[in-house]
Formats: sequence, structure tokens, C-alpha cells
Amino acid sequence: MLSVAAAERLIFGLVKPLEEQETVALTEGLDRILAVPVVSDRNFPYWDNSAMDGYALRAKDVGKYDSLEIVGEIPAGTSPAFELAAGQAARIFTGAMLPEGADAIAMQEDTVREGNRVKFLGAVKPGQFVRRQGAFYQAGQPLIPAGIRISPADLAVLATAQCTQLPVLRRPRVAIFSTGDELITPEETLQPGQIIDSNSYALSSFVKSLGCIPLPLGIVRDEPGGLRSTIQSAIANADVVLSTGGVSVGEYDFVDQTLAELGGEIHIRKVAIKPGKPLTVATFKNRCLYFGIPGNPVSALVSCWRFVGPALNKLAGLRAQWEPRFIQAKTKQELRAGGQRETYLWGQLSWEQGLPTFSLAGGAHNSGNLMNLSQTTGLAVVPVGETVIPADSLISVLWVED
Ligand code: AMP
Ligand code: MG
Repeated sequence: MLSVAAAERLIFGLVKPLEEQETVALTEGLDRILAVPVVSDRNFPYWDNSAMDGYALRAKDVGKYDSLEIVGEIPAGTSPAFELAAGQAARIFTGAMLPEGADAIAMQEDTVREGNRVKFLGAVKPGQFVRRQGAFYQAGQPLIPAGIRISPADLAVLATAQCTQLPVLRRPRVAIFSTGDELITPEETLQPGQIIDSNSYALSSFVKSLGCIPLPLGIVRDEPGGLRSTIQSAIANADVVLSTGGVSVGEYDFVDQTLAELGGEIHIRKVAIKPGKPLTVATFKNRCLYFGIPGNPVSALVSCWRFVGPALNKLAGLRAQWEPRFIQAKTKQELRAGGQRETYLWGQLSWEQGLPTFSLAGGAHNSGNLMNLSQTTGLAVVPVGETVIPADSLISVLWVED
């Protein structure tokens, strides 16, 4: 059985980032992955401008004259049509362009106005409160690198650089289906022995939250014929397939067998993780990556958080920050594990007095208990060989949701 670290290396190594590009409008850019580096042919600031409401002047004039003559006013958004000569100042507002000849701004609060003249309460240094042209960005320099997920701040920069059409990577298509004779949809009436398919909803929304396109294929019965045709169309139409159930050693578990029959190369069958031990990972010649995830809804989500999510982020083209995010946190409760497999215990990650803190979900910590998985934001890791971690210890927590 593979260790979690070995499984992770293998899985992430199988992922080749997508390269196909598409163009979206700036307004559609949020959370998309930039396909090419952005370079602007403009400096930023575009021109010398004032950082304050006040007076534009020549710094050396302030010590030289008792007061300066106000020869004009420059509101933001206008271009001054005059040049400052010795002994002159111009009324100026934040963001407005400096007139020729000015080299500093005196803040309004440090001045006294007398008709069309202005006096200064202190010395003015050359360059004071001036945002120089190109001080923050020089035309032609790299502005934003490729392979980042576009954030609101990035959109502000892209808008400023007048990038109204954005080259982004196409989003991964992820086929999702649930296997099991016992499964029904939430709309159907529950008969004794049946189980409602929750995995389809968890996995589709998980994939969507990462910016991928889910292709939901519904419920497939534990029967080789139907399973085979579903898997066949899934691998033909998606970059990644996520199926849940049918990967244990039960008599109705046909997934691995079907993958092999369809020419899949199976890389992983089991991982020493709890929950989530039966995990099948296969690849196909068309580069489709197949995850056969355990049917148990808790195990299914833990497998997604630990392995599938980072793999999708890498596939989507993120060049950094695609790996799982672990954070050191203080556990409020004692944590217990069997010691045989790397164990993930679900709960809430919060910030208490600024320190990351982990609280174990209340109730039974049993992989059959889906109910206390609600509101999970972190998974505490208990390493192999450890059985008890005392309360207040610093532990590693997989950060699963913002
Ligand atoms: P399996 O991996 O198919 O052996 O399923 C393990 C357990 O998870 C069984 O109790 C199943 O009924 C349950 N299960 C399987 N698939 C789903 C699903 N899509 N939604 C909810 N529970 C499921
Ligand atoms: Mg099953």
C-alpha cells in the first residue's frame, strides 16, 4: 500500500497542465488562469501626478520667497496648459498632473492662502508628494506572470493596463458519476435499504469551486455493461473522471476491472490514508486522468481535498500555489488515530487571537458519519505511528476551504 506522500508524488507527477487558450472579457476574468504574461506599453503612473490636495511648486522657491503667486488650478483629469516660472505655484488636487516646472507638492494643511498668493508653514523637499511617471511600473517590464488565478486585485491592474480581452487557459472538464445499486437521487422516495447519492453534489460543487467544468453523469448501477459505457464516454469527453464507489473489494466493485479492459493504466489502487484507503488512479492514452474514489461520502471528500483538488489546480495551469495547503494550528481537543495509516480528522480551522486553531467536529469521528462533515474547513493530520496527540499541541492541518 502506498504512503500518502508517495501517492501524492505519483498523482501530481501524472498531471500535465492544460495549454489550450481562450479569450474572455475583463468582466469574465475573475478566477480564470492567465495564459500568457501581461506586459504593458505604458508607464504607471502614466505621468507625474500629485499625491495630495495642495500646491504644485518649485521646492527651492519656498525658502527663497515669502509667498508664491498662484497662477492656475489643476483639477484631476486635466492637463495643465501652463508652465510654472520662479516664484509661482499652482493649486492642485490628488491625482492631477504636475505642470511643467513643478518638482514638489506642498500639502494644503501646511499652507496659508492669502488671495492669489500662498505661504508655507515649513520647508518643502524636492519630489515631496509627487508620484513620478513610471515609479510603480515601467513600460515593457513584466506586469503579471502567466499561470496565476486572476483575483480582484489582478483585475484592477489588468483594467489599468487596458487589457479588455484576457487570454486565459481553458477550464478542465471533469466527468462525475456515482456507482451503486443502492443509490437514488434526492428527489426520489427512499425505500428501505436505499441510500441517497450525495457524492454527485459534493463532487460537482467541489470541482466547480476550483474553476473546473463539472460534467455530471448521474448514477450508474453496479453492472459491468452500464459501467463500461459510462466510463468510455466519460474518458472521451473529459480531462478528468471522478467516479465514486465500486473500488473496494466487494463483489459489486467493477471499476478497476473495467478500467483495465478499456486500456487504462492503473497506477494506484490503495493508499495508506484514513479515511479513503481504496483509491484507484488510472490514465488513458488520450491523457484522461481517472480517479476511482471510495463511495463513502466522507472518504470521497477527504480524497478530493487531499489529492484531487491539487491535481485539478495543477491541470488547470496554476504555476504556483496549486499544492495542498497545510497550516500549523493548535488543536483544542485531543486527537486519536489507529497509527497504521495517515489519519485525517475533520473540523474547523479558525483564527483565535490571531492564531490558527483547530476544533474537532463534534460527534462520532466515523467515516460513516457524513453529518458532522458539514462546515469542515480543515483536516487535522495524525501521522503514521501516532495514536494520541494531546490537546493544545501544534499540529498540521490541511486547509480545505476559505
Ligand atoms: P462503496 O465504495 O461502493 O463500497 O460504498 C461505500 C459506502 O458508501 C456504502 O455504504 C455506500 O452505500 C455509500 N455510498 C456509495 N456511493 C455513495 C454516494 N454516491 N452517495 C452516498 N453514499 C454512497
Ligand atoms: Mg458500491
